[in-house]
Amino acid sequence: MEYLNNYYKTLFNQKIFSWPLSLFFIITLTLMIGCTDKEEALTEISTPFVAEDYVTFEMGNIPIILSVPHGGDLKPIEIADRSCNNAVSVMDEFTVEQARAIMDEFAKLGYKPYLIINKIHRSKMDANRNRDDASCGDKNALAVWTLFHSQIQNSMASVKTVFEKGLFIDLHGHGNPKQRVELGYLLYEDELALADETLNSPALLSVSSIQHLAKNNTSGELHSELLKGENAFGSLLNHAGFPTVPSNSDPVPLASDNYFSGGYNTANYSSYKGGTIDGIQMECNKTGLRDSKTNREAFAVAFVHTVTAYLKTHYFEEVPVNN
Ligand SMILES: [Zn+2]
Repeated sequence: MEYLNNYYKTLFNQKIFSWPLSLFFIITLTLMIGCTDKEEALTEISTPFVAEDYVTFEMGNIPIILSVPHGGDLKPIEIADRSCNNAVSVMDEFTVEQARAIMDEFAKLGYKPYLIINKIHRSKMDANRNRDDASCGDKNALAVWTLFHSQIQNSMASVKTVFEKGLFIDLHGHGNPKQRVELGYLLYEDELALADETLNSPALLSVSSIQHLAKNNTSGELHSELLKGENAFGSLLNHAGFPTVPSNSDPVPLASDNYFSGGYNTANYSSYKGGTIDGIQMECNKTGLRDSKTNREAFAVAFVHTVTAYLKTHYFEEVPVNN
C-alpha cells in the first residue's frame, strides 16, 4: 500500500484535487482495491483439483508395504458421490490412526514401512476397487485412484530392487460382530477348510496371495502351515494378544461370518499375480483394537512384533534395513 500513500500525497501536494473531491477519490479507489482482493480470493478457492493433496506417501526402509485404502474422511466438492455398481460408501474408521500408531511403533526400532494412505472418503473414491468401480467415471476421483495405485506400484518396485522380496499389507477395518482380526489370502472360507494336502496342491497355491512365500520360505513351512500353523501370521498375532482368523486356534471362518478373503489390492499387489512380494488383506475389528488410542497403540505393538517375527522366520535371517 506504500505506493498508494505516495500517490495520494502527490495529488495533494500538487493541489490537483480539493479535499472533498480527494476524499471521494480515495474512498472509490479503496473500494476498487477491496473488490480486486475479493476476486483474487475467489480465484484461490477455485484452483485446479490436485490429486497429490489426497494421497499420503512415505518411503520405507524395510520390505513391508502398508496401504490404507478406506480410512480417508475428506469429501472434496470437486468429486461427485459414487453411485455406480452398488457402491459401498462406509469408511474404515480409525485405520489411518491405526497405521500411524504402527509407524510410530516401527520407528522405535529404526524401521519404516512404505506407507500409502488414501485420504478421500470412500463415498467419493474406493481405493480397493478397479478403476471404473472406484471412480464411477469421475475424472478427479480417477486421478486420486491412479496416484494411490502408482505409489503402491512404485513401492513394490523399490522393495523388489532393494530387498528382492517382501510383504504388502492392505489395512482395513471390518464391521462383523466377531471381534477378531480377519486375514485375507484370496482364499474363501470353504477353501481354508480343505485338507492340508489340498491346500498345498498347485491348484490352491495358484490362487493364494502368499504363493511365492509358500514355495520359497526359509523355514520350509508349507502353505497350510503358513495359513494356520504355529508360525502363521494369524497365529503370531493371536499369541501377541489379538484373536485372528485364520490362525492355529481359529483356522477356518464360518460361511455365515461374512469373512473378507481379500479384494482388488491384495489380488493385484501380491504373488497371486506373480513376483516375489506376497500380500495379505488385514481386516481389524473395532472393539478392543481400533476404538481407542490406547488399544490402537497396543495393537501396534502386537503388529510390529508379529511382522518382525514373520519376516525373520520365513523371509530373512534378520529384518533387512536400507539406510
Ligand atoms: Zn476396507
